[in-house]
Amino acid sequence: MSQKSLREQVAEAARRLAAEGLLIGTSGNVSARSGDRVAVTGSGVVLADCSDDEVTEVTLTGDVLSGDVTPSSELGLHLKVYDRTDAQAVVHTHAPFSSAVACVDGLTSLPVLHYQQLGLGGAIPIAPYATFGSPELADAVASALVGSQAALMANHGSVARGSGLAHAVDNALLLEWLATLYHRTSSMGRPRVLTADEQEAAITQAIRLDYGSPKENRT
Ligand SMILES: [Zn+2]
Repeated sequence: MSQKSLREQVAEAARRLAAEGLLIGTSGNVSARSGDRVAVTGSGVVLADCSDDEVTEVTLTGDVLSGDVTPSSELGLHLKVYDRTDAQAVVHTHAPFSSAVACVDGLTSLPVLHYQQLGLGGAIPIAPYATFGSPELADAVASALVGSQAALMANHGSVARGSGLAHAVDNALLLEWLATLYHRTSSMGRPRVLTADEQEAAITQAIRLDYGSPKENRT
């Protein structure tokens, strides 16, 4: 079986995120990098039905290499993240709970209530608001992602990066789960944040147990 093209892989990731409810209608965008090429979903594409011909390949400076559809209006954000981090894939969503948390006045980060969040780097920064598609937004989001696998975008949505498409998709799904957890906890009482010591111990334990990877039983 021939290997899937980068454009096909991006289309597949977009369809999966739409099926999971993170990409709604035409909102949100997905990209992946291979060397000095970036494949990104097109502007105005219904992401649940995204096909490879609705994904456009561009250079790291945004010049179109292949594809007929105008790249996403957030192309500048994706390219800035590739420029500032070692990301190989970037997912931007308007997922319901991530977007809701990003609208809380005065909140500057999503605190660590659950140890699974430590896999994303700890407290999730909320990048300050700027107009969609603007260089100011691209800059704020890329800065937030320098030390974090994911970020929220004030009054807008979420962004996750990864070492590949599957990793970025998993990170976006985990962020949405954490935002949902925060919302549900806040509705019942004051969320208790894990202390620095508790976070440290969880990281040590994750390393010790190689947490998150399937392992064979030792006989
Ligand atoms: Zn957006």
